[in-house]
Amino acid sequence: MREEDFYYSMVCPWCNKGKTVIDKKAPVHIHISVVCVICSHVYTGDLYTGKTYKSKPIRNR
Ligand SMILES: [Zn+2]
Repeated sequence: MREEDFYYSMVCPWCNKGKTVIDKKAPVHIHISVVCVICSHVYTGDLYTGKTYKSKPIRNR
C-alpha cells in the first residue's frame, strides 16, 4: 500500500500550503480545527468529506 492510503490529508484553505495529516485510524465522523503552521489562520476540516473550511479562532470569554 502507498503511504497516502494510511492518512487523510487536508490543505489549508487560506494559503493552500499548510497541510494537516491525520492517521486513518482516527474516527472519520469528526470535525477538527487546526491552526496552520504557515499562515497561522484557523481552519476546520471535515474528515468525512475531506473538505476544509476557513474558520476563526474560538476564544473563551
Ligand atoms: Zn495556511
